[in-house]
Amino acid sequence: MLHHVRPRRDAEFQPNHHLEVAPEFLREMLAHLRARGIEIITMDEVHRRLVERNFSRRFACITLDDGYRDNRDFALPVMREFEAPLTVYVASDFAQGTGKLWWIALEMVIARASSIEAMIGGVATRLDTSTPAAKQAAFDRLHDWLRGLPGEHDIHREIGALCARHGVDETDICRELCMSWDELKPFADDPLVTVGAHTITHCNLARQAEAIASHEMAISRARIESALQRPVVHLAYPYGDKVAAGVREFALAHAAGFKTAVTTRPGMIFPESADHLTTLPRVSLNGNYQDTRIFPVLTSGAATAMWNGFRRIDAA
Ligand SMILES: [Zn+2]
Repeated sequence: MLHHVRPRRDAEFQPNHHLEVAPEFLREMLAHLRARGIEIITMDEVHRRLVERNFSRRFACITLDDGYRDNRDFALPVMREFEAPLTVYVASDFAQGTGKLWWIALEMVIARASSIEAMIGGVATRLDTSTPAAKQAAFDRLHDWLRGLPGEHDIHREIGALCARHGVDETDICRELCMSWDELKPFADDPLVTVGAHTITHCNLARQAEAIASHEMAISRARIESALQRPVVHLAYPYGDKVAAGVREFALAHAAGFKTAVTTRPGMIFPESADHLTTLPRVSLNGNYQDTRIFPVLTSGAATAMWNGFRRIDAA
């Protein structure tokens, strides 16, 4: 699982840095997989091998969430060097240019402000954001607060107010970072590329009423299919952790007809995963740990086995 792939930036305050890796790091990862004889396959092929219980060779599937333009500009050229396929999960509002990437809006607000005021838990709170360390602390606090708010509209109301006060335009962020439909069309035509769905608004599905959660899955799929004129059969749950995707969402994704759906729960794929095709775990390539010494830990399954207490399946 990756998000952004782009050259390293030198700003000191980069609170979303875990979501980006440098192209060289992706290249080293692919070389590591190849050197170990681990095949790099499409999501369709992952599905086929699981359904057919074909585990004769180890495999990996490279997935990128959100539909960032840097996936086209930096990830795809590296994937081409290895003739390796990639799957990009697109939130349809992001491709539309109307999406709200609130975690990046928050970063931009804090980057330019020397202090921030917010009503946290009903208490007017002033946070110092005058130094890189203070900015990071403020980001962590506000990020946790926002993710804990009851509804998606609460996050967008609070971020909208912060953006208005500090002169940040949320729509600009979306258009600057995400591929538009016009860009996605030729991108999706590349034989190495599979486009999957990532909901309409990039909401926390588990916090939505069931009808809305279903709508987010089905309509994002329909919009991508109609814009790109190709079937969309794979889904990634936004945020994808236990707070954002649980048993109800796994059933809804199955009912919506997705062949697979991926979470952000850490884990490897095992033969038993065939019974949980809409609960597939992933291994994150975290931008904060761009050290090739981590590759054997990741590909051996050691890292995620520890995390999961040596259970192979975590689908509850
Ligand atoms: Zn996402």
